[in-house]
Amino acid sequence: MPTYSHSQLSTYETCPHKYKLAYIDKIEVETEGVEAFMGSRVHEALEKLYRDLKVTKLNTLEELLNFYHQSWKKNWNDLIQIIRKDYNAEDYRRLGEKCITDYYKRYYPFDLGKTLGLEEYIYFPLEEEKSYWIRGFIDRLTLVDSSVLEIHDYKTSNRLPTKEDVHSDRQLAFYHMGVAEKWQGIQEVRLIWHYLTFDTEIHSSRTPEQLYQLRQATLELIRRIETDRQLFPKEGPLCDWCDYQGFCPKRKHLITVGSLPPNEYLNEEGVVLVNQYVELKERKRLLNEESDAELAKIEEALYAYAQREELEAIFGSDHVAKIKIEMKEKYPLKGNPHRKILDEMVKKAGKWMEVSDLNPWMLARIIGRGGWPPSLVNKVKEFSTVEESRSITISKLKERE
Ligand code: SF4
Repeated sequence: MPTYSHSQLSTYETCPHKYKLAYIDKIEVETEGVEAFMGSRVHEALEKLYRDLKVTKLNTLEELLNFYHQSWKKNWNDLIQIIRKDYNAEDYRRLGEKCITDYYKRYYPFDLGKTLGLEEYIYFPLEEEKSYWIRGFIDRLTLVDSSVLEIHDYKTSNRLPTKEDVHSDRQLAFYHMGVAEKWQGIQEVRLIWHYLTFDTEIHSSRTPEQLYQLRQATLELIRRIETDRQLFPKEGPLCDWCDYQGFCPKRKHLITVGSLPPNEYLNEEGVVLVNQYVELKERKRLLNEESDAELAKIEEALYAYAQREELEAIFGSDHVAKIKIEMKEKYPLKGNPHRKILDEMVKKAGKWMEVSDLNPWMLARIIGRGGWPPSLVNKVKEFSTVEESRSITISKLKERE
């Protein structure tokens, strides 16, 4: 049965190629960002806190932090990556410690509600036909009284979500769907995020209508994933944290040459080619600038000469320069406020088709963006042909923070 998780769907939304590498090619990666590593250690500690409480053992803060530090030490390895160069492992370890300490102090003695599940696995059909299933793990599931269920999720990210993020969050809404029918007599499901680095709790809930809409939107997304034959890489600010950079056409060269010693790096074929290309382009740009300036001067001199001598043709040794000076009508371009009014006027006069033209470049772009109904896209695509298109774009590398 096709099964999806929230993180699987998010991976596709962030970058279809990463989705391919992780979920279709199933490439195993060994690297891990320090943020994810720290998040796992904090999750483990909070899981231990509540697991021990189930057998009436209340850890002291000191015991819990000892557990955290030991787990940090035991699991730390050379494949953990620190992308933000201003910070080191110790900074992240302390941040995790702070998350646990703040949490402990805020909720001590942890007696609000009864813990029903920790790292609770959920698996449920997305629609009545049961064609697609959703899976996930809930950090903590708590029964507040016999009719109120709380879904708790711990976050260690350094970004607080906006109101809109909270109300449209898919992960906890999935969990809501997954637990709603599992326990009898539940009348209310509360979604609670613990933003640990901010020592902040955020609450939300979903109505049946919102859950219905989420199911529809998720089905639409799954259909998009399953019909995407290209799964292109989509570069973004999170690429630096992507564990699949070594397999991605946008990043693997950077990763490969990044590990070379300086002498080998400067002789690497790709590095040499790009350096030569940029140098030549720059030389050409400077030459062009000089020639353009020279050309503009000569053009002005030709116009002046033609006007002074009342000429429309000036003869050189092998060429003739035909000079035309005339007044031409110009109409407002796109972006000009008058353009809209003009468009409307021509449309109203029924003359639009005489002056409008389909822009094939724009058509390809809009279809690529994926906003049109699939039936229309398929019909439009019958008119397209596939040709190889080549380009080289040079851009300056940014310094990493
Ligand atoms: S490095 Fe960026 S573009 Fe490449 S797979 Fe990862 S997220 Fe996608």
